[in-house]
Amino acid sequence: MDVAEFRASVQEWLAENDLTPGPDHSLDGQVAQLARVRRALYDAGWMRYGWPAEVGGLGGPAVLRAVLGEEVATRDLAEPGIYSMIEVLAPTMISYARPELAAEMVPRLLSGREQWCQGFSEPGSGSDLASLSTRATPRPDGSWTVSGQKVWTSLAQYAQRCVLLTRTAPGHDGITAFFVDMDTPGITVRPLRTMHGVDEFAEVFFDDVVVPADRMLGNPGDGWRLAMDLLPHERSTCFWHRIAYLFARLDQLIDETRVPDDAALGSAYLALHTARCRSHVTQRRLAEGARLGPETSVDKVLLATAEQQLFDTARDLLPGVLELTDSPWRPEYLYSRAATIYGGTAEIQRNIIARRLLDLGKE
Ligand SMILES: Cc1cc2nc3c(=O)[nH]c(=O)nc-3n(C[C@H](O)[C@H](O)[C@H](O)COP(=O)(O)OP(=O)(O)OC[C@H]3O[C@@H](n4cnc5c(N)ncnc54)[C@H](O)[C@@H]3O)c2cc1C
Repeated sequence: MDVAEFRASVQEWLAENDLTPGPDHSLDGQVAQLARVRRALYDAGWMRYGWPAEVGGLGGPAVLRAVLGEEVATRDLAEPGIYSMIEVLAPTMISYARPELAAEMVPRLLSGREQWCQGFSEPGSGSDLASLSTRATPRPDGSWTVSGQKVWTSLAQYAQRCVLLTRTAPGHDGITAFFVDMDTPGITVRPLRTMHGVDEFAEVFFDDVVVPADRMLGNPGDGWRLAMDLLPHERSTCFWHRIAYLFARLDQLIDETRVPDDAALGSAYLALHTARCRSHVTQRRLAEGARLGPETSVDKVLLATAEQQLFDTARDLLPGVLELTDSPWRPEYLYSRAATIYGGTAEIQRNIIARRLLDLGKE
């Protein structure tokens, strides 16, 4: 199926199958809505396009996933950040898990039966991820014991599984990844509240958690490579979805603005359009089978800047609405502040651009 045909068929199907969210806008409500949307799209086959047959997919180019997410985001059917987590975690499983494990687990994620989380950041290791200290120690029977703490783990309280980075030896080559069941004894999840009032992420404590040998992703020491392969995924198809969602917010802002400021709205549009052009190039490269790398840091800087500019514009053009009312603009504005932090901070992205794309060397 080509892209235009796929888009038209999805649009037709969405017109006939009402997946509009209910009135519950809490995080519980959003996660339940996400599962409902994924389930319906999976059962109808749409969610399976762009994924390989080995993990229950129907094949076709990955760009079909971008189109589906765009249609979902444009209609506000699911919160784009949590919808797009499949784009980060499923490719990682396909590349690094044993084929039987990926075949068993990926369909559970795509179909909305499960939610997974990404256990990378730690209290002392965020930007400097390679310093992580959650330890995995081998046991005589080949399994591993994991002890340590993760933080900022999005949706950990809802997750059945976690893609977890651990330390098995010193240095970058001593990082090893596991796919861990979140109901394993010894795991404690303590949700953290963001400034926009939602328990979006959590602290996760691992106390002598036993993980079977066959849950290792790749081989011992492959964890750094896995992380470097995963991070560009956070900046490709996910971004296409988010940009569609931000364009829908811009349209809404134009509708709600009583005294339109053409320059401010035009400038917000331009920033979003620039991010979309850049993301389009990335989608193209993905479709051609390119391996994504540090150049996706440019996408991240452009998108985070455009997102914050859009909500700054909303703050300026809707006087008092963000500050004094319970309008959805308020949490969205506050959440947009995180855009320059999650998935690698703005400063780190600029460092990557300077060092790895412009070859400017260290500080
Ligand atoms: C909404 C949200 C969701 C998240 N979800 C997840 C998740 O699901 N899983 C997960 O593992 N993590 C998650 N994170 C964590 C995120 O990846 C980290 O917050 C991020 O990597 C930054 O790490 P840090 O918070 O430890 O900040 P730090 O690394 O301590 O940085 C603090 C400040 O110092 C700056 N800084 C640090 N080093 C340098 C340097 N070398 N040069 C210049 N400036 C520097 C940073 O840019 C930043 O401004 C999430 C974060 C947010 C906000």
